[in-house]
Amino acid sequence: MNLKDIHIKNHLVTIFRHIIQIIAFILINYLILEFIFKINLKALENFFRILPILNSPRNPLSKGAGITEYIFFSFTEGIIPVFLIGIFILIILFTNRFFCGWICPIGTIQDACAAIPTNKKTLKISTHNSLLKLKYIVIIILVILLIPLALTKETNITYYLEFRASIGDFGDKPLSYFSLSEYIFYFFPNIAINVFQTASLGPLFKNFLVFFLTIFYLIIIVLSVWYPRIYCRYICPFAALSSTISSYSFLKLSRSPVRCLGRTECGVCEKVCPKQIRILDEPFEFFTGKGECNYCLKCKEVCPHDAINIKFG
Ligand code: SF4
Ligand code: SF4
Repeated sequence: MNLKDIHIKNHLVTIFRHIIQIIAFILINYLILEFIFKINLKALENFFRILPILNSPRNPLSKGAGITEYIFFSFTEGIIPVFLIGIFILIILFTNRFFCGWICPIGTIQDACAAIPTNKKTLKISTHNSLLKLKYIVIIILVILLIPLALTKETNITYYLEFRASIGDFGDKPLSYFSLSEYIFYFFPNIAINVFQTASLGPLFKNFLVFFLTIFYLIIIVLSVWYPRIYCRYICPFAALSSTISSYSFLKLSRSPVRCLGRTECGVCEKVCPKQIRILDEPFEFFTGKGECNYCLKCKEVCPHDAINIKFG
């Protein structure tokens, strides 16, 4: 076996994962397929609504959306979506954050950015740990804003209507400010079209929030070249919800105390982890990286001693 064969063999899982990601990306954005092959794939729409991924309902390439969007949208409509929350919990219990690593289009876009050959960087552990809390703050803000809507539509319609009007966009498209999917698939193309049609940068400077969020998400995309999955780590609302359930999932990774050489003599697994997880500080019997692991399996495929295993149950 020559060096090239060994290199390919060591990355077979990643190659396979990228193939799955590309297929999933095209299927989720199925209007591309409808346009090219002149077929009707509308039946996929309802299925996509329960997919545990982040997908804006305003994505014009995919009329469906991910389950997080529908859960929060239900709150704004005065409904507590018990059925959707149940499906969400069940999916995470059985698949953990596999969908983040293998299926989510926003994960795929960030992986494509990270594939640009650069020296990947890590943040100071204390900074990383503090930033991880950001996405939970996002969820807390959303819950504080939306739970009153879910509870008052039936009991106090006047309050419901007034409160919904007072929270502006949060009442109509609750995740939009926090969704990279919203910016990549809806907001950026619209701004680009407006700028092109008016032949001026006016639409970009229309209001401060539009300008700020456009620059913010552009920076996030650029940073994901050096800091893989930076959006998933620190901002994604789906990541915040799923990581809280992750350690109860049946799907986990484990590390053999007999085979593993530890950080001083090896530590390769931590160097390749796109989520900057301190794998070697995690328990041997199972680890989820405090809910951050997305089952990309990079650590498993590079481990020279075959110390990392998939565990179910
Ligand atoms: S790469 Fe494998 S042997 Fe090396 S530290 Fe990580 S788990 Fe242990
Ligand atoms: S711990 Fe392993 S499987 Fe999980 S995100 Fe890091 S490299 Fe991927």
